[in-house]
Amino acid sequence: MKVSKPLIINPGARINRRVRPRQTTPTLHISIFWYVLLPRSSSRFNSIVDSISNVKSRTEELYLDKCGVSINERMSPGVGWLYCGENNVPCVKRLSKNGNPEMASVINNSYLKPPKKFFGRRAFTYIVVPGARFIDDPTLLGTTVTFGQPDNYSIYSFLTLQALLPSNPWIVAHEMGHALQNRVYNNFPSPNRNDPLNLMYEPVPRVKNPNDLNITTSQIEEFRQSSLLYPTPVTRQTRQVSRRTGVTKSKP
Ligand SMILES: [Zn+2]
Repeated sequence: MKVSKPLIINPGARINRRVRPRQTTPTLHISIFWYVLLPRSSSRFNSIVDSISNVKSRTEELYLDKCGVSINERMSPGVGWLYCGENNVPCVKRLSKNGNPEMASVINNSYLKPPKKFFGRRAFTYIVVPGARFIDDPTLLGTTVTFGQPDNYSIYSFLTLQALLPSNPWIVAHEMGHALQNRVYNNFPSPNRNDPLNLMYEPVPRVKNPNDLNITTSQIEEFRQSSLLYPTPVTRQTRQVSRRTGVTKSKP
């Protein structure tokens, strides 16, 4: 790997040869919500949370290592249970790649409504929908869509339970890639069509080792320019300030 010029010039600093090149690029931070759509009576929540926790660590490591993007883990909310079958939130059975009315009612009849923010910052949301399948393409395991108005929208990934399995290690990371590539309401750049080992290829590569997975330099740049990313993490202090004043106050 070529070592690029450092982005931050610190004339006094000594360079430790063991540091990895990415440390010369500032880490960017993203806040992510996770929800599981299940009826209140379901007993599956704990096992699903275990699967989510595995896939989360894999996704976080990949983005930190390859793109310098840190998922704001400790300061992000945990996994939430979204009760379906009440308050007009349907237990979705049919997913569609570009969204459908059932998926829209999950967003519109719950506190997932856009703009979805975490302490004043734009946030991205995964919604796990156990028991659902894609009606337009049964081989699909997840999709990333926008909901809201063109000037006020949020990005959501709907995932089937299969998207969390170790045999599909990079679906969650791939969907996050779509979210980071999004710039305009209801519009996502095309997937990668050249390299079956690229993270943004469809079908998503199933290689076990993250080193066998490709993300191009221009994809990394594109990801890093997403408005979902912030130069500083949400800290305990940010949260306390917000609670004390009742005003969401955080630097962009
Ligand atoms: Zn895709």
